[in-house]
Amino acid sequence: MKELRVGLIGTGAIGREHIKRLCEKVHGVRLVAVTDKFPESARAAAAPYGVRVEPDEQALLSAADIDAVVVTSSSAAHEAAVLGAVARGKPAFCEKPLADTAAGCLRIVEAEQKAGKRLVQVGFMRRYDKGYREMKAILESGRLGAPLIVHCAHRLPAMDDEGFTAAMQVTDGIIHEIDILHWLVDDVYTTVQVSYPRRARASRGVQADPQVAVIRTARGLYLEVESFFNCGFAYDIQCEVVCDEGTVRLPDPPAAPVRHAGRREAALEMSWMGRFLDAYDTELQDWADALLTDGVPRGPSAWDGYVAAVTADACIRSQQSGREEPVGLPVQPAFYR
Ligand code: NAP
Repeated sequence: MKELRVGLIGTGAIGREHIKRLCEKVHGVRLVAVTDKFPESARAAAAPYGVRVEPDEQALLSAADIDAVVVTSSSAAHEAAVLGAVARGKPAFCEKPLADTAAGCLRIVEAEQKAGKRLVQVGFMRRYDKGYREMKAILESGRLGAPLIVHCAHRLPAMDDEGFTAAMQVTDGIIHEIDILHWLVDDVYTTVQVSYPRRARASRGVQADPQVAVIRTARGLYLEVESFFNCGFAYDIQCEVVCDEGTVRLPDPPAAPVRHAGRREAALEMSWMGRFLDAYDTELQDWADALLTDGVPRGPSAWDGYVAAVTADACIRSQQSGREEPVGLPVQPAFYR
């Protein structure tokens, strides 16, 4: 295959970002068609690139001139779209979460295994971030000895949605740490506990902000994730791994240091889109390259999507019980090893 002909489902915020990316940046790809439940949104997103608009997801999935699909619809719609692609033997790149329930993720895992080859990649873009990749290479070199503790922070300047719940802070935020950390330290989660310090002044409505999740692993690591969605000052992602013989820390994004009026300062990133711009580009390029060369994706798998959903559920159970909760992951099938 010389060119990957792609269809995209869901032309909302990230859908439009990925349309731009697929049309302007990613090599070897031609975006053929898009669709959205809101047809006006699909038409507006397609127009600048002369892309066809399909009436609905079924029509897009069945189109003979579409080799693979990108799923950027609302989370509750992911499962049906991905299962539809798998049933047709078409690869699907699905934004996180893979499905809105762990049971839904498992149905995709089972369908993919039945299909007999990997077809699904989940949009956990942090795995394509240069800083995390550098950290992983250093950890795998063995130079620092074995990892013992990980300290993370996931901070947003503000969360304005009054209806944003404690559980959503897990499924929309901590889920990224859940995915990146088991990949980074190559371990399996066993238990989680979510605790709340004093509520931040800026948190509003039903928010319970900040939260601290502690995840323990099969090899005895202690992974601590601060999730603070109203920190006020930046979109700030921190990660430090403490090992037997040293530590490694996620680099901050580059920013020109300023010396002025007796102070030294550097700008901080304010949005997730800017912070992970390069990672999103690399992620979709790698997805296209893998399909064009090997016919199968090599990024985060449906199993990774399932692991994230099961672990997120355990975090939500702990929010409710106040206790440490078992994650209860089954053994990874050989298909995904
Ligand atoms: P959004 O702005 O609400 O866009 C989603 C669009 O999909 C909406 O226009 C929605 O239409 C449409 N849609 C829903 N069901 C559909 C279906 N069956 N067929 C076609 N279109 C359908 O949401 P978003 O912020 O772009 O987020 C989309 C997904 O990306 C979410 O799952 C989110 O978690 C994920 N995401 C991931 C990242 C990341 O860092 N990797 C960042 C942002 C978002 P209606 O509004 O009419 O339902």
